[in-house]
Amino acid sequence: MKKLKEELASLVSGEVQDDAKSLDTASRDASLFEIRPKLVIAPKDAKDIGALVDYVTKHPEEKLSLTARSAGTDMSGGPLTESIVLDMKPHFNKVLNVGDGHALTQPGVFYRDFEVETLKKNLLLPCYTASRELNTVGGMVGNNSGGEKTLSYGKTENYIEEQKIVLADGKEHVIKKLDKKELAQKMAQDDFEGKLYSDMYHLIESNYDLIKKAKPTVSKNSAGYFLWNVWDREKGTFDLNRVIVGAQGTLGITTEIKFRLIQPKKHSRLLVIFLSNFDGLGDLVNEVLEFKPESFESYDDHTLKLAMRFAPEMAKVMKGSMFGLALDFIPEAFTVVQMGRLPKLVLMAEFTADTEEEAAKTAHAANERIAHRNLHTLITPSEKKNKEYWAVRRESFNLLRHHVKEKHTAPFIDDWAVHPNQLPQFLPELDAVMAQYNLTYTIAGHIGDANFHVIPLMDLADPKTQDIIPELSRQVYDLIYKYQGTITAEHGDGLIHGPFLEGMYGKEICDLFVETKKIFDPHHIFNPGKKIEASLTYAMHHFVNDAHIRADSSRWNVPKPAAK
Ligand SMILES: Cc1cc2nc3c(=O)[nH]c(=O)nc-3n(C[C@H](O)[C@H](O)[C@H](O)COP(=O)(O)OP(=O)(O)OC[C@H]3O[C@@H](n4cnc5c(N)ncnc54)[C@H](O)[C@@H]3O)c2cc1C
Repeated sequence: MKKLKEELASLVSGEVQDDAKSLDTASRDASLFEIRPKLVIAPKDAKDIGALVDYVTKHPEEKLSLTARSAGTDMSGGPLTESIVLDMKPHFNKVLNVGDGHALTQPGVFYRDFEVETLKKNLLLPCYTASRELNTVGGMVGNNSGGEKTLSYGKTENYIEEQKIVLADGKEHVIKKLDKKELAQKMAQDDFEGKLYSDMYHLIESNYDLIKKAKPTVSKNSAGYFLWNVWDREKGTFDLNRVIVGAQGTLGITTEIKFRLIQPKKHSRLLVIFLSNFDGLGDLVNEVLEFKPESFESYDDHTLKLAMRFAPEMAKVMKGSMFGLALDFIPEAFTVVQMGRLPKLVLMAEFTADTEEEAAKTAHAANERIAHRNLHTLITPSEKKNKEYWAVRRESFNLLRHHVKEKHTAPFIDDWAVHPNQLPQFLPELDAVMAQYNLTYTIAGHIGDANFHVIPLMDLADPKTQDIIPELSRQVYDLIYKYQGTITAEHGDGLIHGPFLEGMYGKEICDLFVETKKIFDPHHIFNPGKKIEASLTYAMHHFVNDAHIRADSSRWNVPKPAAK
């Protein structure tokens, strides 16, 4: 190990670490897994990354690979590896320029810092996540992240104008949308980049209809490689950013990103709806959607209880006082009294506009539309009051992670989506599946996109947990396949969703994913075991509590789905 460390340290100007603290930190993300890398390297520049690509490629006998890591908030195990972690935070952390509707940035910049710079120019990257205080913009590209504004503005994939990326030839390349002439020029190049463009073009062109048909019909998706978005025959445009986004670092290492930004609307009002059960939820959602809320989010009673239990932490997040928080919660407390118990689900529809009157008018119109349902609702009287609802929504998973000591958050059915029209049929079926297990779980999510985060709290040392995770995953994902939804709408495949890709897309499409990986990464050096060749057995052997893992692992095999 010393020899490898010294050898690599002589090739790069960034730091090469193998101390316990660096390895421990890089061993975890926000998923259920723990994998200890050999080394953590903080590349100083693209040249460092190129030198590492070169070394790893020329020493296949050492079986090394490179896995990019930014803030490590991934919930799927995406940045975990047994080999070399490239920590992008220390040296790729500058916002280079903001203006003219764009921002040029390095990938290791935290979103919270990036937003400070963009807001100075009244510009916003609207695909920010609920983890916006914790994650980086490079991780958002890696996972094709989305968040509360995705309902109106889409996900990260819609905002990448250009990126620089170190590819398998060890060189840094600029990737941008090409027209037919530019594509032909690229394909004619006698080098790795030329072959990459040529092979990708032929792969997509010769399977065009199959690929277009495979595009999930849900409004957001982070599963698989998004081949359907690369080549547009009608417009004659070809954009490899569209397949690199969401690839979880399996196709190359991003070193710079040019994002398109939007001008945020100035004013907003929240219509908050308190439900005592799920009855008629699908139709209710569709009625509210008629008024085009910018965001439409939800959280359940367990989340609300948690927020009340950890009020001091919530106050800190809101940068306010306990007193302020208590005051802010009066509307909900009042509703609780009226309903006689905690609402089962709280829905928040945010209406935005350039004037306060306009935002309030739409919120009231939406409230009128659903009045026939006799639900408890309120419209926030000011923008300041919106904050408490957003804080509960954004912080719920984080509160669970850090404060529930006796049980562990278990993200494995954490990010599915179906079509909102299907919610009335889908939810009772899901309910029946969940009812077989005596689990405590929170549900929060982007209800407007019918994308829900179901996070059970489980005792990971209990052997039963190891049976429930694969069994319940299979049952929930069978339902997702049936409703043609996605197994992951924004969190990425990683170790936990990857094994279910074939069930979602079928073998033919997954074979095209394998081809894509081979074209970009012929030596298989970028983040192996994610997107293709993901194995639940491997993942469960790296369960955070692996000391308790039982020897027999046959139950973790994901059965091959019937051919599509
Ligand atoms: C409390 C909480 C709430 C969350 N809420 C949301 C949410 O609302 N929406 C959402 O989409 N996600 C959410 N997530 C998941 C996660 O925060 C996002 O996916 C986030 O964008 C990941 O960013 P990161 O900087 O932590 O990336 P990491 O976890 O470090 O990496 C993510 C993936 O990208 C790859 N990667 C990172 N940098 C590069 C690079 N430079 N080049 C190539 N590949 C790279 C990694 O290999 C990995 O596969 C949440 C997570 C938590 C813990």
